[in-house]
Amino acid sequence: MAAPEMREPIESGCPDGFQYMHPVMRRNFGLWDYHEDVIPGVMVHIAKNGDKVWTVKAGTQRILDVFTLRNLMDIADEYADGYVRFTIRSNIEFYTDTEAKMQPLVDALKEKGYAVGGTRNSVASISHTQGWLHCDIPGTDASGVVKSMMDELYDEFTNWNMPNRVHITTSCCQINCGGQGDIAINVQHTKPPKIDHSLVGNVCERPSVVARCPVAAIRPAMVDGKPSLEVDEKKCICCGACYPPCPPMQINDHEFTQLAVWIGGNHSNARGKPTFQRLVAAGIPNNPPRWPEATAIVKKILDCYKEGARDWERINEWVERIGWPRFFEVTGLPFTKYHIDNWRGARANLNSSTHIRF
Ligand code: SF4
Ligand code: SF4
Repeated sequence: MAAPEMREPIESGCPDGFQYMHPVMRRNFGLWDYHEDVIPGVMVHIAKNGDKVWTVKAGTQRILDVFTLRNLMDIADEYADGYVRFTIRSNIEFYTDTEAKMQPLVDALKEKGYAVGGTRNSVASISHTQGWLHCDIPGTDASGVVKSMMDELYDEFTNWNMPNRVHITTSCCQINCGGQGDIAINVQHTKPPKIDHSLVGNVCERPSVVARCPVAAIRPAMVDGKPSLEVDEKKCICCGACYPPCPPMQINDHEFTQLAVWIGGNHSNARGKPTFQRLVAAGIPNNPPRWPEATAIVKKILDCYKEGARDWERINEWVERIGWPRFFEVTGLPFTKYHIDNWRGARANLNSSTHIRF
């Protein structure tokens, strides 16, 4: 009997990016000499052999409909060389090796309503998750927070008027893709989960939920003769980790699910170690559709940073120089007992894994 024909594996991973690169970029991979910032949103990269490629960056919404995509691709075909890339911050970058195409491309984007910017010392587009659409645990619509804030930060995106680059992030739950950035707007639950005991037995794998709690606050329990769970509310840190594997442990609440702003997070680079972000404002209403309270705090922090930082100081460097008491003084943000990290449990787990060595 003939050997059965083997089915080809279906490749659904990330395709090889080289095939989509502009030919000048492909040719000069690893051979770039330097780059210059031409105008806000436009860079030119120069290769060692003199080849040049211009990049024009425009902000987009993260969830793109087909009509917007067609619109953007028409612009790419007509005004650039047909090559684009989406960045991690939901910007689109167009590439051309012809300087004369650069300005008409910028004009075409602006005419269609796209903001060109996000380079050098600007506020980059806010990176965010969009769990409201696809995930099982969001406590807010992070994409909506981004839209509301970027509407207010339009000038900071399209100009070079900040002391240095500002990366802002948002997250839609408290525990997972929550961002680390110069400014991070994160969800903060402030009450332990409420348990619907009638559903736990049928919906939740109780051992998994018990194991999931980072502070061992969940115990199996019998309630009304049915297997369920109970939470030691004194131990619970309201993280929301139990909600994904056990939806009857409902933690989202229109009043007690709030937002918090953290600042000063930065990855390490050639000049410095990584820095952890610190809480600067908590208890901010999770207030759709425009989140005015959170936006006002972010704008206030940015205004003070713009006013007080030296050229090329990042937000964490500015605060380290002036000191945290002065930061709270200039921003007018209240310093409360919640800003003091006296959680003793941290001594047993922070910085003690084999993976973290600072
Ligand atoms: S931040 Fe949380 S809710 Fe949002 S996508 Fe990530 S895991 Fe899901
Ligand atoms: S919210 Fe977090 S700390 Fe509280 S019970 Fe659930 S997993 Fe544990």
